[in-house]
Amino acid sequence: MEDCIFCKIISGEIPSKKAYEDEQVLAFYDIDAKAPVHLLIIPKKHITSVLELKPEDGVLVAHIFEVAAKLARELGLEERGFRMVSNIGKDGGQTVPHLHFHLLGGRELAWPPG
Ligand code: AMP
Repeated sequence: MEDCIFCKIISGEIPSKKAYEDEQVLAFYDIDAKAPVHLLIIPKKHITSVLELKPEDGVLVAHIFEVAAKLARELGLEERGFRMVSNIGKDGGQTVPHLHFHLLGGRELAWPPG
């Protein structure tokens, strides 16, 4: 999508610090980290949010979580744990309208979120 910042990161038009990439997904470090480890895992296909997911995206979403688990293990988060979050819409605090999952770890995270 033309005006989507994450589509521009996927195409390389906007630089990012990549953690993982394959044909379907990209994982990169959040520019404004909220924890010692803060990654964003996104599908390369433009999907606006969880609300736009279709039944045929099931394999893609499962793959995103598979990649998240692999990265969490590689980054040493397995033992202490971590958090996966997808913000949706205004009340959810979504600022970029391209489906993304935050992977946060490396410190104890408060609950409930603010
Ligand atoms: P959300 O607010 O849930 O939509 O998450 C969007 C996230 O994208 C925020 O945590 C931003 O810090 C992050 N972000 C925005 N622009 C960039 C960028 N160019 N590179 C890396 N992360 C970004």
